[in-house]
This record gives sequence, C-alpha cells and structure tokens, in this order.
Amino acid sequence: MRIAIYGTEIREEYLPVYQKTFELFRKYEIELVLSEEIRSELHQRFQMETTEITCFRKDLESCPNIDLLLSIGGDGTFLSAVPLALDMDIPMAGVNCGRLGFLADISPENLEEALLQFMQGDYTLEQRVLLELIHPTNLFPEFNYAVNELTVHKLDNSSMITIATQINGEFLANYWADGLIIATPTGSTAYSLSVGGPIVTPELEGLIITPIASHHLTVRPVVVPDDVEIELSIGGRGNQFLVSIDHRSAPLDFSQTIRVRKAAKTVSIVKFNNLSFYATLRNKLMWGADRRNPA
Ligand code: NAP
Ligand code: MN
Repeated sequence: MRIAIYGTEIREEYLPVYQKTFELFRKYEIELVLSEEIRSELHQRFQMETTEITCFRKDLESCPNIDLLLSIGGDGTFLSAVPLALDMDIPMAGVNCGRLGFLADISPENLEEALLQFMQGDYTLEQRVLLELIHPTNLFPEFNYAVNELTVHKLDNSSMITIATQINGEFLANYWADGLIIATPTGSTAYSLSVGGPIVTPELEGLIITPIASHHLTVRPVVVPDDVEIELSIGGRGNQFLVSIDHRSAPLDFSQTIRVRKAAKTVSIVKFNNLSFYATLRNKLMWGADRRNPA
C-alpha cells in the first residue's frame, strides 16, 4: 500500500495529525510519499527526522502506483489537492484538522479505522463532477476545473452587474445581482448554500445556478441537467468582473463572454460506509438540528 500525503501548510495544531498519520503508516507498513514542501517544513520547523521519506514536487508523475492521495488540512486543502489526483487518476480522501471538513471528512480520531477500511477495500469510490471553464485566453493555466463552483462577481465598484445567461444557446434570464454561481452537486454545500441554493446529493446529475443578492422578487436558484453548456455575458457600470473557479480567481473585461460545462474528467473520492452524505450534512452543517428532537 502506497499513500501520498498532501498539505498546503503546517499550522501548530496540524502537527499532532501529521505525527499520528506517520505512526499509523509505520504500524501498518504503508509506504509514505510526501510533498517536498511539507517534508522540508516538518524538518525545519519541527525538527522531524524526514531523510528517509520519498517526496514529490509539483506532481506525482515521478511516484507511480500510489493507491490514495490523502490531504491533511480542511476543505480548502482538499480542493488544492484535486489537480494532483486528477492527473494520475488516483482516489482522494482528506483528514480534517479542525476546520469544517465537509470534503475532508476523516477526523484524526477516525483515521486508523479509515486506513484499515481502505486497506481492506471496504469503501466505495464516488465520481464527482467537475466544471470546465471555456474561454479563449487560458485564464487558469495550472488547472481549469472547478470542484465546487464557477462564480462571476462584481469587481470595479458597488453597482450591480447584469449576467445574461444562456443554456444551450437558449436565453434563461438576465440577472441583476452581485454575482452568479454555477455549482456542482459537490459545491451545493459551499458558496451556493450561503446564498440560498439547494443542497443536492453528490450523485445527482445537475448543475445549480444561484444568483448572489439578485434584485428580483421572482428569481430563485434553478437546477439544470449537467450536460448543458451555460454561457454568461456580463455588463454593468464598471469595466471588469471577477471570475472564480473554487478558490482561484481572475478579472475579466465585460466584453468577454464565458462558457462553462461539465468536464470530461471526474475526481474519485473515497467514501467509507460509516460516513454517509446525510450524516455529514447533519454533523458538519447541523442540518435538521432542532432542540425538540431527542438527543
Ligand atoms: P474558505 O474561505 O475557507 O471556504 C469557505 C468555507 O467553505 C470553509 O469553511 C470551507 O471548509 C467550506 N467548504 C469548501 N468547500 C466545501 C464544500 N464542498 N462543502 C461544504 N463546505 C465547503 O476557502 P476554501 O477552503 O479555499 O474553499 C473555497 C470555497 O469557498 C469556494 O469553492 C467557495 O465554495 C467557498 N466560498 C464561500 C463563500 C461564502 O460562503 N460566502 C465565499 C467565497 C468562497 P474548510 O473550513 O474545511 O476549509
Ligand atoms: Mn478553507
């Protein structure tokens, strides 16, 4: 068994999680592959002995036969690890270090059980849809896919923007709003949720279009099939808007139309049988919490 560990930073409180992970890897003779940045941080900041560890730099191409990519951090860290996994078609899971951890849903206390289940093949692989931004200039050359959502947002001033939206070439609406979110089912519990979008289960084949602060009484979030192409043309009083895919963003001129569609690739996420989507909803977002319910 060969598992690669990915992290973006090591905060003080992450250190015990790293230590526990390494201990478990030794106990179960799991071969560890670690990103070079994390290895040198562990060595320099925490004087950890790391000379024996196999490392990777930008991608995992030099490290074949990896069974799992495990992120350590929060959902943001999990999102940043997706490009590595996608390139090599490796399943992903995430250990949560005290953040929300909706995607990174393994708690440090459950890590041993999760590793045992993984080694025994006691899990399912969920294929999560990604969104691809289509734009003539390569706006996000490193990674042009969104796991959660694509967002357009006002940028230049406090005025609203208008977002003329076409679905497969057919006019849907002209939103007068601060922005618009096109979310995958995975992203339905992220930004889209904050602006009133519906929560949908990961296996649903739909995309959620949710406006941000739309100035209409008659507009609601809408779910469309995930095999459509969505085109957005932005206007307003300024000159530019912001386009984001997950945590990456870039400014664009109003004259630039953008299109978005489901990517050909999917990302495989390891799901353990005791961690259902509904349980995560209840535990992480307190969904359905009501003091009248029996404890
Ligand atoms: P962040 O500012 O830390 O993310 C905001 C929160 O969303 C964090 O608590 C994060 O969990 C959580 N989150 C991320 N993906 C999620 C998912 N699929 N389901 C449920 N919760 C999720 O930034 P980040 O960690 O780099 O994440 C980027 C995402 O932030 C974007 O894709 C967007 O969805 C979201 N965002 C939300 C708002 C908002 O709600 N107003 C505004 C901008 C961006 P962790 O604490 O574990 O990282
Ligand atoms: Mn985060």
